[in-house]
Formats: sequence, C-alpha cells, structure tokens
Amino acid sequence: MWSYQHTNFLVHQIPALSDNYIFLIQDYHSDVVCVVDPAVAEDVKVACEKLNIKPTHILNTHHHWDHTDGNEELIQMYDCEVVANADDAPRIRGISMPIPANGSLKLGSLNIQTLDVPGHTLGHIAFVIDDALFCGDTLFGGGCGRLFEGSFEQMWSSLQKLADLDEKISVYCAHEYTLPNLRFARDMDADNDVLIKRISDDTQTRMKKQPTIPSTMALELQTNPFLRPLNQAFIQTYNKQNNENFNAFQVFQDLRKRKNTW
Ligand code: ZN
Ligand code: FE
Repeated sequence: MWSYQHTNFLVHQIPALSDNYIFLIQDYHSDVVCVVDPAVAEDVKVACEKLNIKPTHILNTHHHWDHTDGNEELIQMYDCEVVANADDAPRIRGISMPIPANGSLKLGSLNIQTLDVPGHTLGHIAFVIDDALFCGDTLFGGGCGRLFEGSFEQMWSSLQKLADLDEKISVYCAHEYTLPNLRFARDMDADNDVLIKRISDDTQTRMKKQPTIPSTMALELQTNPFLRPLNQAFIQTYNKQNNENFNAFQVFQDLRKRKNTW
C-alpha cells in the first residue's frame, strides 16, 4: 500500500488482482473514508485494519466486475453507502446513493465533483476532489480505456473533459497498464523526449515494484498518445508520417483503432 497527502485528505493506494488499484480517500476533517472501485473486499479490509479506519462510502466509476466485485461484502462488513451514476443504477450492485453523472456532492468535508465520461462504458463517470482525479478505466497512464460500449466521438469528448482539468491534478486511474501503454506510445511518437524520459523513469519504478500511478495531467498531456492529438504539432507530424489529413478527433480515432491490434 502507498499513501499520498493532499491538502484535505489522504489517498491510500491498494494493489488488487493482477493490475488493479483500489483507492481509499481518507478525509482529514471527518470520519468519511471513500473506497474507489473495490475490486476485492478482502484487500480493502486488510488495508483498513492496518490504517485503523472504516469505509463509509464506496465510489464506483463504472459497473465492470473488477471495479464493483467488493461492493456487497463491504456493505455487509461496514454498512457503507454506494455512490454511483444514477443513469447506470441497475448495473451497480448495492447502489444506495445514485448521483447525477455531472454534478457535485459533499461527503464529510470532501467536495466531490462528478464528470460524465462515457466511452469505455456508457455510464462511466470520474470523480474530482480538489487536485485528485479518479478516472477509472477512461484515462490510463499513457493510454485510455477500450471502447466496450461508447463511440469514438464519446471517448474523445470524455478525454478532452479530463484534459481540461488543472494540469497539476493527480491522475489516479484504476489499472497499472502504463509500461505496455508507453511502448505503443513510443511507436506512434518516437521523437518525443518527454515520452522517452517517462519510459525510462517508469521502467525503473516498476523494477522497484512501485506504482507508476498516480501520474499528473501535465505528464499525460505530454506523453499519452490519446491526448497528444490536442497538440497541433503532433497532428502535423502524424499526418505527414501516415500521409493523411486528419483532424484531432480523427487522429485519436486512428490511434485507438491501431492500439486494438498493435
Ligand atoms: Zn472497466
Ligand atoms: Fe477495469
């Protein structure tokens, strides 16, 4: 487990399954403890006992089993509330606090903003608390989620919403996929020095069995191939190399398609 200090809360990062991360958000000013995407209840329990805290709320970004499987057991153990997208309520096990996909809520002293980010699934939402973003399977370190339900247009607009957040925001995504993602990124963006440095930094991090997550939006903007189409120079280079005349969305779409078979 790893812990990160923010002004109003702590984030504890728990590795689960083969590459999932579960996050605990511990409010400094109340007893509120939020569990983001509990893949496995037992891992949350062990972490909470170590920290001597009790989950009060579960925050689900989307309905997939590797983000919600722990819901029911945690409700039984801690009697916690399940906060998730009202529009996706039938698919979220144990949901007790349905909330708007774009909105805000206050839990303890935590001011939580929700963002509607369809693409990976149609009901996918992200949570923003101060300078921390919990984006589930929408944006990854060096990558983005697969389009299981949404369109390319939806995912592109969702990624732009996240890219519009403050670039200092910490990106807490739900999987450790960064290194394989960056290998694809290097193939698409070979002359990017920031990317080459990130690959070397993150490779060392993983050799020490440390997480590459959280990253920052600034780093993602500079190195994530699915955000790079926001950069005009990148589009020009991409078009030249591929003999195309794509706009930003079309570059994103082309990259997302290529990644599926890469
Ligand atoms: Zn998923
Ligand atoms: Fe997932």
